[in-house]
Amino acid sequence: MARLEIALVPALADNYIYLAHEPDSGITAAVDPGSAAAALAGCRERGWRLTHILATHHHGDHVGGNLELKRETGCVVVGARADAARIPGIDVEVGEGETFLLGGSAAMVLETPGHTIGHIAYWLPEAHALFAGDTLFSLGCGRLFEGTPEQMWTSLAKLRDLPAETRLFCAHEYTAANGRFARLVERDNPALLTRLDEVARLGAAGRPTLPSTLGAERAANPFLRADHPAVARAVGLDPGTAPAKVFAELRRRKDVF
Ligand code: ZN
Ligand code: FE
Repeated sequence: MARLEIALVPALADNYIYLAHEPDSGITAAVDPGSAAAALAGCRERGWRLTHILATHHHGDHVGGNLELKRETGCVVVGARADAARIPGIDVEVGEGETFLLGGSAAMVLETPGHTIGHIAYWLPEAHALFAGDTLFSLGCGRLFEGTPEQMWTSLAKLRDLPAETRLFCAHEYTAANGRFARLVERDNPALLTRLDEVARLGAAGRPTLPSTLGAERAANPFLRADHPAVARAVGLDPGTAPAKVFAELRRRKDVF
């Protein structure tokens, strides 16, 4: 099994670029490099040479560095087939359920429409790593710019079903703000209170709140819990309401929070 090191590189206002490096093969993939300068500096610092870009979706804070990085390093850009026209520099087009090799590590593509129609996530089962872009955040989820609540709920449920030990690497440091909303929804959820304590501790130390784990998120993130009666009740709906409807109401409230 190939060993994979994952480094967090803060970029732009509140983005993270993840650098996934495999010492055996020497490959280094930058996930969502919104800034070429930040990605290159992150590689240089570690003595890594950029070989791949993994794009989750077309927004500028995720693909803004693609073309410059390609010019500087000759790296290969991987992105969604369904959204190829909007991913700058795309070389390799991928879609739902497809697995490709990143050096010696298998990466599986999960289509997660909602934030954008062409959004995808990358799951590396051996490394227990999920690069979720702007679909799933710790204690939150992405805004619905293009998709419907039904689509987003289906996408989130798909990610929720991955193994509990899977580490969640999402593209923004939004956890503290998400936590303030989550606390209003489920103030008595012990898993949420545990995560909020941890987030407060990390924040006070100036440290990233990521990665989280899917096990922790499943228990604490209200947007993954739209099928729990307590969450339906918290947004004024009957416990029997369809989860996608509960999710839609949660998302609506968070948009104006
Ligand atoms: Zn986005
Ligand atoms: Fe973003």
